[in-house]
Amino acid sequence: MARDISPVCKKCRREGEKLFLKGQKCLTEKCPLSKRGGKKSSFYSRRMSTYSLQLKEKQKVKLVYGILEAQFKKFFKQAAKKGNTAIELIILLERRLDNVVYRLQWATSRKQARQIVRHGHISVNGKKVDIPSFIVKSGDSIEFIDKESAYFKAIKDDIRKDNVVSWMQLEDNTKAQILRIPSEEDIKDFPYNTQMIVELYSK
Ligand code: SF4
Repeated sequence: MARDISPVCKKCRREGEKLFLKGQKCLTEKCPLSKRGGKKSSFYSRRMSTYSLQLKEKQKVKLVYGILEAQFKKFFKQAAKKGNTAIELIILLERRLDNVVYRLQWATSRKQARQIVRHGHISVNGKKVDIPSFIVKSGDSIEFIDKESAYFKAIKDDIRKDNVVSWMQLEDNTKAQILRIPSEEDIKDFPYNTQMIVELYSK
């Protein structure tokens, strides 16, 4: 499968804003954009056409969830069949297994979460699943398999039940349940304008 291996922080610089792609580093002064006070570069402050803004919004969502164009289109098509495409698209992206692992704090970035899934550390309803784009559903039980690994021992004390999004529940540090499919309310703070993406694809 094709993978984007370009330097991570460069992607934020290119978009002119923090996309939080590198876990802990993004929250510290080590972030190159923190050094600029999180300000957008003058390049991106210039007036852009509607088309460029729509393209840019799509690019940001793809970067945040770490997916390439072909898969993004697939998600978009699925979302379009379900109703309000702008909302359903984010709900579908949120339901990806790698995103779930990230939201459960078993990884500090979605990129790391993807590796954890690919390396077979996660099970869904008792079966190992190593596909990051696997879509979880209501009632699914998600588990970190290798609880005795050095990796898990190092992170387990930092996992906080109250930091988990409301549509999931951590039973203990290694096991969680999907309580329901996320709703529009759950994604209301999503920082990107997916309606612009819908308009882009409608042309
Ligand atoms: Fe982006 Fe994080 Fe790198 Fe900062 S540290 S530029 S937010 S990936």
